[in-house]
Amino acid sequence: MKSIIVINRARCNNCNEIIKSLSVHDLKWCKCHQLAVDGGNCYIRRVVENENNYIDLNEIINIENEYKVDRVNLGQLDFKEKCCICNSIDVHLYKGDGKYIEGYDILGYICHACKCLYIFNDIKFK
Ligand SMILES: [Zn+2]
Ligand SMILES: [Zn+2]
Repeated sequence: MKSIIVINRARCNNCNEIIKSLSVHDLKWCKCHQLAVDGGNCYIRRVVENENNYIDLNEIINIENEYKVDRVNLGQLDFKEKCCICNSIDVHLYKGDGKYIEGYDILGYICHACKCLYIFNDIKFK
């Protein structure tokens, strides 16, 4: 199994801001500067004043080693739960955390016919 970081995100308990790192060198600070997130989809790095003063809100999906990872747009998905690449119905949707995602609360899906995890490019956050 391998772990795919779909969303690299944390909340600072001091200022309550939720910050996300979108790419490898995208280091983001919260507004009170007690927490930073970094690593995007590649690794999870935190810079903190106090270890206990933040909450991780990552979304991580575990897949078999031979499965690939690709990205598609949410608009391409047929909500009859079919793969938008091969039309297979052998798919598994990954729900997000409804509190932070706008609209359809889906992060991506695994197609067992394509042997691929498709992550949506266009997830919209509240
Ligand atoms: Zn803060
Ligand atoms: Zn497919």
